Amino acid sequence: MTIAKTFLTALKKQWLAERTRCQSCGMPLIYDAHRRTGQPYCSYCHDGAGFVSDMRLADMRARVDELLRRRRASALVRFYMYWRLATLRRWRTRRESGPG
Ligand SMILES: [Zn+2]
Repeated sequence: MTIAKTFLTALKKQWLAERTRCQSCGMPLIYDAHRRTGQPYCSYCHDGAGFVSDMRLADMRARVDELLRRRRASALVRFYMYWRLATLRRWRTRRESGPG
């Protein structure tokens, strides 16, 4: 029962982190000490008036991957974040032309 409880606690924490990720860099907002309430972006990405740096999705992917490498994250985690970044609000843009 203890293992199950530990697992559920970890799962709940992960779920909470998933639904409160910064919608620009993907960092769980629970880790942002300077987070502003009602703001979907972390304080490193957005200062309340606008984005701190003008980036494209590819730039953000490179930045996040570099960070994960330094933290010795597994290839699976790095791949997950590579995919996850594209689903965030800042990068979900409607294309004017093309299929889909
Ligand atoms: Zn961010």
